[in-house]
Amino acid sequence: MKLYQGHKSRLSKNMLDLIKSMFEDAPVYVCILEGPEHRLQYANKIFRQLYGGRIFPAGTRAQEVLRLFRGSEKEVRDRTAVLDKVYNTGEAFIGNEFKTSFTSEVKNDSGEAYFNLICQPLETTSGEVYGLFITGYEVTEHLKARQEKAYSKKRLTIALEGADVGFWELNLKENSLDYTTKQCKAHFGFSPDEEFSLKDFYMAIHPEDRGYIKKNIRNSIIGSGEYKVEYRVLRSRTSVHWIMSRGQCLYDENDRPYRLIGITMDITKSKEAEKKLEKAVKIRDDFLAIASHELQTPIAGIRAHAELLQWQLEETDNEGYMEQIAKINKGISQLSELTRNLLDFSRIKEGEVQLQKDEFLLGQLINEKVETLDSVSQHELQVEGEKNVKVFADKIRIGQVLTNLIDNAIKYSPAAGKIIVRYTRTKDRTVISIIDFGIGVHAKEREKIFERFYKGGGRLKDTYPGFGIGLYTSLQIVKQHDGDLWVEDNSGEGSVFSFSLPNK
Ligand code: ADP
Repeated sequence: MKLYQGHKSRLSKNMLDLIKSMFEDAPVYVCILEGPEHRLQYANKIFRQLYGGRIFPAGTRAQEVLRLFRGSEKEVRDRTAVLDKVYNTGEAFIGNEFKTSFTSEVKNDSGEAYFNLICQPLETTSGEVYGLFITGYEVTEHLKARQEKAYSKKRLTIALEGADVGFWELNLKENSLDYTTKQCKAHFGFSPDEEFSLKDFYMAIHPEDRGYIKKNIRNSIIGSGEYKVEYRVLRSRTSVHWIMSRGQCLYDENDRPYRLIGITMDITKSKEAEKKLEKAVKIRDDFLAIASHELQTPIAGIRAHAELLQWQLEETDNEGYMEQIAKINKGISQLSELTRNLLDFSRIKEGEVQLQKDEFLLGQLINEKVETLDSVSQHELQVEGEKNVKVFADKIRIGQVLTNLIDNAIKYSPAAGKIIVRYTRTKDRTVISIIDFGIGVHAKEREKIFERFYKGGGRLKDTYPGFGIGLYTSLQIVKQHDGDLWVEDNSGEGSVFSFSLPNK
């Protein structure tokens, strides 16, 4: 190694060679400075790389090196001051995560790096300081990773607190609750400073739900690892809260479960709303069932008497009365259809239809329904399809669907002359279409008309009697058969309602 001019190193050549052989390829930075101006005597490879791989002649002043590569003059001053202090006091300087700036020539990302370093004085045997020995290593990545972890934790805490979500960790090896946030404690009626153990957790759960929770924890550990429960918590004798908890089991490298971690949320309000809604729906359904059932008896009575009257009047051939009685009969038919619709609807709740499936001739059922409706309709009802097509389905329910769709076709095509009922069987399904030449369904309403209580037709809505439940009921029945129900445009001349039934 060349020495700087005019200054002979206080270290012998042998000593310098020894240092060089020891530290040249070391994974830590090593640098030796000498004299009060801190002239560079030696810098190992990794140190030189820090300075863009440049080789400075021995004897270059530290300040010159610093000036070339540090961000600012202040940084140069501060760093030189540190060197001066060690040199003058003989006391080592230890820098932990010591922040250092670099120009972009050296570090082109943020320009900041962090080091753990030590700067020690080199002394003669008589104790006189003649140089500095600096060694260190970079900890930037390590520090950033730690900061990122802390940020992530902070972000998570803010998110959890903001959403009033509690967090807990169950240690499965010790069978103890290791960690619970204040929200989690609050969900069980505990204050933030109170101890909250696994025993407290179980005691807070409603006695009727404890077994269910234990079973679920066990199942999640031995099963998929997923934990998903809803249970009641007794914060006091009178106050019951509903808690929803989700979690995940963690397994070690030997697949042994060691932790179950999760969140808690208070869902009391939505549970109460759900219950109120369930109750309201039940009251409505019960009422509908009773009302529609009760209405059917007097309607049947009126119908029988009206028919009798019509028959008697036909004998007397009284035109005026005949017209009146025909109107009464039409009204009765409408009333009867409405109550039948109501009754069907009240019996059919989503997914609760009990099907009695059997094989039957489709054409026969269609003809039966068409004949009944033919007598009350002005329309010509045409049936098209192969006579021997059989389906495997609930005949009564499919009959309801057919009646609903044909009824609608009649109702929504007052000015048309005919309605076609067409059925075709393909490889895997049978499709039944009811084709009318009436008012049609607006493209915007094609999805909505299948919702319950939806009546379409815009301004014309009140022109046609109905509760908006026929298509909904029909769709439920068809879905229960794993089929489909849909509507299409009949080339701008009305609509085509079709439903499919899978072949057996
Ligand atoms: P409702 O006929 O009692 O109103 P539905 O559930 O049977 O109830 O039908 C819902 C809506 O779908 C009707 O209000 C009507 O707007 C529309 N609709 C049903 N069938 C037809 C049809 N064949 N032609 C035109 N519109 C129809």
